[in-house]
Parts: sequence; structure tokens; C-alpha cells
Amino acid sequence: MKKLLSLFIIILIAFSCGELVPNPDDNAENITREHPKQKKVNDFAIVIHGGAGTILKKNMTDEKEAEYKAKLEEAITVGYTILKNGGTSLDAVEKTINVLEDSPLFNAGKGAVFTNAETNELDASIMDGSNLNAGASAGTKTVKNPINLARKIMENSPHVMMAGNGAETFAIEQGLEIVSPEYFSTEKRMQSLKRVKAKEMQKEKEIDSESAFYDADIKDSKFGTVGCVALDKNGNLVAGTSTGGMTNKRYGRVGDVPIIGAGNYANNATCAVSGTGWGEYFIRATVAHDISALIEYKGLSLEAAANEVIQKKVPNLGGNGGIIAIDKYGNIEMNFNTAGMYRASMNDKGELVIGIYSK
Ligand code: ASP
Repeated sequence: MKKLLSLFIIILIAFSCGELVPNPDDNAENITREHPKQKKVNDFAIVIHGGAGTILKKNMTDEKEAEYKAKLEEAITVGYTILKNGGTSLDAVEKTINVLEDSPLFNAGKGAVFTNAETNELDASIMDGSNLNAGASAGTKTVKNPINLARKIMENSPHVMMAGNGAETFAIEQGLEIVSPEYFSTEKRMQSLKRVKAKEMQKEKEIDSESAFYDADIKDSKFGTVGCVALDKNGNLVAGTSTGGMTNKRYGRVGDVPIIGAGNYANNATCAVSGTGWGEYFIRATVAHDISALIEYKGLSLEAAANEVIQKKVPNLGGNGGIIAIDKYGNIEMNFNTAGMYRASMNDKGELVIGIYSK
């Protein structure tokens, strides 16, 4: 009888310790980790951006606006068609970005902004969410399409990032199209450089040079990067970003774009993210990886994760900009804290959304 009683007590203790009974907290944990609303919403999808900044309707002509929209539509249609026909997100991202790089409208490829020394130095990166492979190039002056170089570095070299002359030598070896440095030069960007330099000089007279560099007006003329994220029919997520960086940048400055996890990141377990904004802040806030990590470790939805980083973390540090993203369920996110961001998305039904301003 005594033995039976002690057996009963042991079973009772085991139950109350939660050994044999499921812990209600475990359940709660599962609910947060695997959000109940998170179901596949798109079999494939694609999103692009053409830079964020002070893009205001009052400063835009109807013709200019139509020109931007037409180029965004042309670019995204290239990627969408690849995905619809069962192509890979890698091809979709690369070919879509090529259209934007070849257009002088955006600060990537032709149309890249000028450095303080009146050169064009381009950065790019691409990441494959299926295996976490990545490739990035920094500070190139002669590679026509830096996103192609980033992909070659990812696929055909043992490295993740190459910079300057070395990256250009590798591009030649890989048979990529090489152009003279003047190819990237446009009058519009030269005028921006002159404006920024003039403002900087004026400010320097008033206050110390450090504050002048971060003057709000100067800051605003710097954005215009391009990016693309895509989910293909096989569930593979890819992110790509390409830029001329920031107008008036100095001394081999490299921004967030080729820094994996800052301006670009993809992981099939979470999402693909491409950023645009003030690179120094995007590096320090590890923007793209942070969004992925909030999904992976905290179970946040893509939208909540993007809000946390773009609406809170980046502005709290003093930076600005935006991101485009797609998660593994095909949810689409375009999130920015600036007045505008050139952007477009297409879902698996072929529905096209194009936007420029915040409202
Ligand atoms: N993030 C880029 C950079 O800092 C600039 C941009 O997005 O326009 O190089």
C-alpha cells in the first residue's frame, strides 16, 4: 500500500513539473514562432526599388514621373517573366537589375553618382537564400553591370567580396563587359555633385566640416540605388542591390550595398531584403540581416520586422532610407521612412503595383 502511494506521489510530481504534460508556454512559443496567419500567399513574386529619398510630387513633372514608372515596369516585367516561366530567382534578380543599371535614371550602372574626385565608383551584391552564398564587388570603375560581377564572384570564386582593381581584373577574366570610366558619367549627376560641393563649402564657412557633411539638404541628394528581391516557384529567395553610392563620397568609401547583411540579405528560411538609404547607418544597423533575424529568432512577420528596423532602429540612430523584401510565404514588403521610394512589385497573379511617394 505504502509502495503504491509513493508511486502515485512520484507520478504526481512528474506531472506538475511538466515532464509528462505539455507546457502551455511551449505552445505559446510555437504560436509566436510560426505565426498562424503565415500561409503561402504567392508561389512566386518579385519586388524592385530605384532608391529612396526626398522624392516629392511638387518637384516632379508628369513626364519625369511617367519615365520612372515606365522604366520600373519594364525592369520588373523582365524578372516576372523569368519567374513565371519557371526560371530561377537568381536570373530574375540579375536581369531585372541590369535594366535599371543600364538606365541613367537611377544611381547604379549608367547614371551612378560622382565621388568627390569626380569619378564613378560602383558597389553591388547578390545573395542566394537557398545556400547562403553571396558575392559582392566594391569600388569598380569599368564594369558595366556590377550585379553581374557580384554573381560571378559568388559562383566562380572562393571569395565573397572583391574590391577595386582586383575586382576589375576578375571581371575581365570572367568575360564581363568592360567600359571606359566615362560611360557612367551623366550631366545630371555632375550637376548634383556641383550643388552638393557648393552647399558643403557654404556650410563649412558657417560651422565645422563634420556637421556640413551631414547637412540635411546635402544628404537628400545622395540616394537612388537599385535593388530587386524575388521568390521563385522552387521557393528560393534571392536579393540583389547595385549602386553608385553617395554623391561626393571620399577616399575609397564603401557603403552598405556590398556588405552582406547591411544593404542586402537572403535566406530561404526567412526572407530576401534589399535596402536603399544612408549607407553608413545601414551598415551600423545591419538592416537587411536584422529583418531576417527578427523573423528567424523572434517569429515576427515580415511587415513587423521591417517596421522595427526601418521605422524605429534606423531613424533612432539618425539615418534614413527604405527596403524592399519578400518572405518565404511570398509576402511583399516595401517600407521606407523617407518622403518617397521608387518601387514596384508583381505577385504570382501578375498584379503590378508601382509607387513613388509615401502617400
Ligand atoms: N545605400 C547607398 C550607399 O550608401 C546609397 C543609396 O541607397 O542610394 O551607398
